[in-house]
Parts: sequence; C-alpha cells; structure tokens
Amino acid sequence: MSNRPYNFSAGPAAMPESVLRQAAEEMLDWRGSGMSVMEMSHRGKEFVQICDEAEADLRSLLGVGDDYAVLFMQGGATAENAIIPLNLIGRRPEHKADYVLSGSWSKKSHKEAQRYGDIAIAAAADQEKTLEGKAQAPYTWMPVPADWKVRPDASYVHFCSNETIDGIEFIDWPTGDAYGAADVPLVIDASSHFLSRPMQIARAGVLYAGAQKNAGPAGVTVVVVRRDLIGHALPVCPSAFDYVNVAKEHSRFNTPPTYGIYLAGLVFKWVLANGGLAGMEAANKAKADLLYSYIDGSGFYRNRIHAPVRSRMNVPFVLADESHNDAFLKGSAEAGLLSLKGHKSVGGMRASIYNAMPIAGVQALVDYMREFAQRHG
Ligand code: PMP
Repeated sequence: MSNRPYNFSAGPAAMPESVLRQAAEEMLDWRGSGMSVMEMSHRGKEFVQICDEAEADLRSLLGVGDDYAVLFMQGGATAENAIIPLNLIGRRPEHKADYVLSGSWSKKSHKEAQRYGDIAIAAAADQEKTLEGKAQAPYTWMPVPADWKVRPDASYVHFCSNETIDGIEFIDWPTGDAYGAADVPLVIDASSHFLSRPMQIARAGVLYAGAQKNAGPAGVTVVVVRRDLIGHALPVCPSAFDYVNVAKEHSRFNTPPTYGIYLAGLVFKWVLANGGLAGMEAANKAKADLLYSYIDGSGFYRNRIHAPVRSRMNVPFVLADESHNDAFLKGSAEAGLLSLKGHKSVGGMRASIYNAMPIAGVQALVDYMREFAQRHG
C-alpha cells in the first residue's frame, strides 16, 4: 500500500487501491491482447468477455436472477431521472408517477419527472417532525411507507435510498402492501450506497446507481430493472435509452463506456474477494459506528439526522462554532484528510466513507477531529 491521503469525497470517490494498481498494470496490454481495454472494439471478443463477466459478477453480488435485466448505461443518475419516466410512465394509460421527497436528490428526481406525465408527491420530509420525543428539522428524517400516499393507478413510486447530501439512508424497503398500492413498483435511486450492504432488490422494480461512489469511475450507470416492467417506453424515448434495446444488446446497443465498465468489473471482483455485500456491510458498519459515536459524544460536533436513518456512507456534521470551519478544513487537508467540505446547500462538513475507505482512514479522521476540538473547544 502506498501513502496516499484519505479521500472523503462524495463522488467521484476513492477507488480500492488494488483496482487502480491492476488497471495500471494492464493499461498497455490487457492480458496479451496487445491493446489497452480502451482501445478495443466494443464488439470484439475481449471486450464482450469483460462486459459479460462484469454483469455476471454484479448479478452474483446482488443475488439477482434472470427476472431482472442488469444494464450498464450512461448519463449518470441525473439522466435516469428522465430515462425512468420515459421507460416506465407509459405502463399505465394515466401516465402517473409518485415521488417520495426525502432530500436534495429525490427532489431533483421529482422535478425532472414532471416533464413526462402526471407527477405527484407521495410524501415529503419538508416539515419539522417530532420523533421519539425529539423535534427533527425538515429533511433530517424519512417518511415511513405507511404514510406514503401512492395512487393505485400510478406507474411507479420513486424514492432515494441514500440521500448523499443530507446523509439519510433508508434500507427497510416496503412491499406494495405497506403503502397500500400492491401493483405500484418501487423505483430506487441507490447511487450513493450501492454495493455497501445487502439490499432487498427483490422488492425493487428498478434500482439505479451512478458508479462513481462504490462501483467504479463516473460515466457508468448501473440499472437493475425487472423484466416485466420493460417495454413501455414513450415514443419520444431516445432509442439508446430504451431499456428494451439496452437489455436486448447486453448493454452494447451503442458504444458503451468500455473502460468504465472494465474498471467497474474490477471493483465487483474486489467486493467479491472481500466478503461480498455482507463483508462490505460489516466493514461499513464498524466505520460508521466509530465516526457517529465520536461525533455524538464530542460536544463539539453535531449530526442532526434522525438516528435510525443516518447514512453509513455520507456523514454530514457541523462544528459547534461555525467560525472554525475554514481552520478545520485547512488543517484536515494538511493532515492528509481530503474533501471534507459539506455540500454548499447544507454547509458544514461531510465525510463520505464508501467501501474503499479503510477503517484506518476513519480512525485518522476521528483522531484529527478530537485534536481539533481540544484546541478550539
Ligand atoms: N442521486 C444521488 C443519490 C447522487 O448522490 C447523485 C450524485 N451525487 C446523483 C443522483 C446525480 O448523479 P450524476 O451526477 O452522476 O448524474
């Protein structure tokens, strides 16, 4: 291992170092092919093998069978915010879809969808709420499925299972009975906690994730879609974004992001070799527990999110005295702890501790935070 700094960026984010090393070794000549992966035809046998193996490894990690298509697409989760309604809203003649608003990213998904049909808010965390006797500010809690108002004739209901900016993670996904609309499938933006823990994929109609947090470099979007939901694209849906075409051609309808898929494939193998999703979960729980328990006991730092839905991946926190923010960030960068500034919409700090962040990195952060609090408390 080299002495690289610890990178707490929310994404693009740290990659497993062994993956970077393997990519470097294979850069000029992939396994005797005489080519870099980025020089290969996307229809040649070498890349077809790389792409099919990445899909097979991802399927085995997620435990999904052939009733789901697993697609590598482009455009990020932002493009999926349009691609989803373009593909799904036509499932029912009413062209309705319902959205749960729990933070910045789900609000963006909801806004984009309005161009494509009759869009309603199923639930929103836009008010203060008292939970366990404590007042929770807007967008620091998650609306529970029993309170979602899902229209029975909606084509789908959308939520974000990990709000990267706000630091809210929602993992106990409901079945249709829990929100009173058994025939309305869940569509889930799992971008920022994809592959961080086992997930109830069987409850999802569609799950999508930009790769650049836990699954590889930016430029690849993973879409896992139940096959019976495919085939309802609106006539205006671009053919490269029609799930029918992408699924039929095994993510090679047009030229896919070949090098990104190769790197994602190496990350999938790294996850498999490190205990799969259960292994990731155990490591991520230990890291998150270490950081939250320090924050909660510090009296100097504070995380405002309702405890049961605190994200294990993105940990926003504020300093008791915000006038110390610049000094905190300057000192942390000097200590080799990078990208801790919170998103501009919420301020404060944010530590993103994805799969590739070792516990030693979180320990180094806690040590720095403790020392900073002693100096400035
Ligand atoms: N959804 C979530 C949960 C995200 O974290 C992000 C990116 N940070 C996006 C959507 C948007 O992704 P992209 O920029 O790749 O389109």
